[in-house]
Amino acid sequence: MIAYKHEPFTDFTVEENRKAYEEALKQVKGYLGQDYPLIIGGERVTTDDKIVSYNPAKKDEVVGRVSKATKELAERAMKSADETFKTWSKVDPAVRADVLFKAAAITRRRKHEFSALLTYEGGKPWKEADADTAEAIDFMEYYARQMLKLAEGQPVESRPGEFNRYSYIPLGVGVVIPPWNFAFAIMAGTTVAAMVTGNTVVLKPSSNTPVVAYKFMEVLEEAGMPAGVINFVPGPGAEVGDYLVDHPRTRFISFTGSRAVGLRIVERAAKVNEGQIWIKRVIAEMGGKDTMVVDSDVDVELAAQSIVVSAFGFSGQKCSAGSRAVIVEDMYDKVVERVAELTKELTVGDPADYGNYMGPVIDAGAFKKITSYIEVGKKEGKLIAGGDSDDSTGYFIQPTAFSDVDPKAEIMQDEIFGPVLGITKAKDFKEAIDIANNTEYGLTGGVITSDRENQEYARENFHVGNLYFNRNCTGAIVGYQPFGGFNMSGTDSKAGGPDYLQLHMQAKTTSEMF
Ligand code: NAD
Repeated sequence: MIAYKHEPFTDFTVEENRKAYEEALKQVKGYLGQDYPLIIGGERVTTDDKIVSYNPAKKDEVVGRVSKATKELAERAMKSADETFKTWSKVDPAVRADVLFKAAAITRRRKHEFSALLTYEGGKPWKEADADTAEAIDFMEYYARQMLKLAEGQPVESRPGEFNRYSYIPLGVGVVIPPWNFAFAIMAGTTVAAMVTGNTVVLKPSSNTPVVAYKFMEVLEEAGMPAGVINFVPGPGAEVGDYLVDHPRTRFISFTGSRAVGLRIVERAAKVNEGQIWIKRVIAEMGGKDTMVVDSDVDVELAAQSIVVSAFGFSGQKCSAGSRAVIVEDMYDKVVERVAELTKELTVGDPADYGNYMGPVIDAGAFKKITSYIEVGKKEGKLIAGGDSDDSTGYFIQPTAFSDVDPKAEIMQDEIFGPVLGITKAKDFKEAIDIANNTEYGLTGGVITSDRENQEYARENFHVGNLYFNRNCTGAIVGYQPFGGFNMSGTDSKAGGPDYLQLHMQAKTTSEMF
């Protein structure tokens, strides 16, 4: 088998690639506004009540109308997953992996189509959408290979006259609840990890991005996934989500999303309900308030570029977004000045137009929340770029940066999840790391330094799951930078890493006497 290598990003400076993306945008535009059913046990189920998915850049443009699950339908999906587990859990892991290899190949052939759909449904600029699709392909390729390795179990010792084995078996029905911001990659990654390990799944996609999830279901079916292995039940988080989390047949929950919802799930999953005979496992990857730290004696351009890319890529709507910068005193003025210049150069507009660096934020709720934090920021710091917003056609917010913000200010502590950057000054490198560690999160961080001693100090003391030196703090790649955070950022499951699949299985020891 070919060794794992991450899916390359598309080079959009090549005209042919730009043309191909334009074509894909046209193709997807041709099917906007369609209806999509639930999928339960392979059966299409249509409801009158719909989740309407809108294009956040053109808020009246309907991307799709998706049937909305009720508790009764969620129950049917649970039953289907529970029943299918009896057979799917016994399917050869190599066959389960083959479904993913084929699904990856199909997705690769339809790469721009999926990315174009992310442009419409998630408001993703081309490059961001392309990276999202590439990551989805990576998850399929990587987890399929990991499964082949884990199918062997792990070696254990045996004494003379006995033979011991240590093998992994699946858990049961997994409830998979992804966010909208990596509407393809995280949705697909969390789903296929659960499925390739021999579990069956009830997938409740985000209500902002259910269409891309439906399209992925079609890919899996085409790749040979049997009916009932993944059941597709879009629905309101509070109603359908709670029902599935509470269900006594739910064996584990794989959640990625906000701190508030993640903690709610952890709490509810801890309660043993009638008929339940296990302790539910929870994988919960939650929010971030991530910091770029700038040391003395560094290249101003590298520092400023890294801060701006981290803060404003996909409008700051990444859990890894560097929404805080901490700069040591002697570099402060120079870096702040350059950050302001670079921020003002960023273009904001319809992400379907290649020229726009940033698109809209995801919806009206996000627009309201982010713009109200901008007002808070105006009181807490000095506005050095942006500050404006316009929701007349889509939810557009200018990249906004504040300098001279107190490290404990609201905009330095709360996850805003939008294009808002707070900058603060530290007297030296150690103080900068202390400030970087002063939130309740611990997801990603970046350090720009040319001092080896300081770098090692940060490696040891900067308490984040993903730490990057001399680059931006976003853009982890499957199999290269396994991803997950500390503290309130979650259970540090390290998606795309060598320990991830084991979270979806349990180990069994067998010992035979000869
Ligand atoms: P969210 O918490 O609002 O929603 C996530 C999912 O949970 C959605 O599918 C939603 O419908 C569902 N949900 C809502 N209420 C529920 C309930 N009571 N029970 C069960 N499910 C429920 O998050 P979001 O706005 O979709 O995503 C943004 C958040 O996700 C940010 O906080 C971001 O930092 C985080 N995130 C974290 C990671 C990571 O790897 N740590 C990656 C991406 C996003």
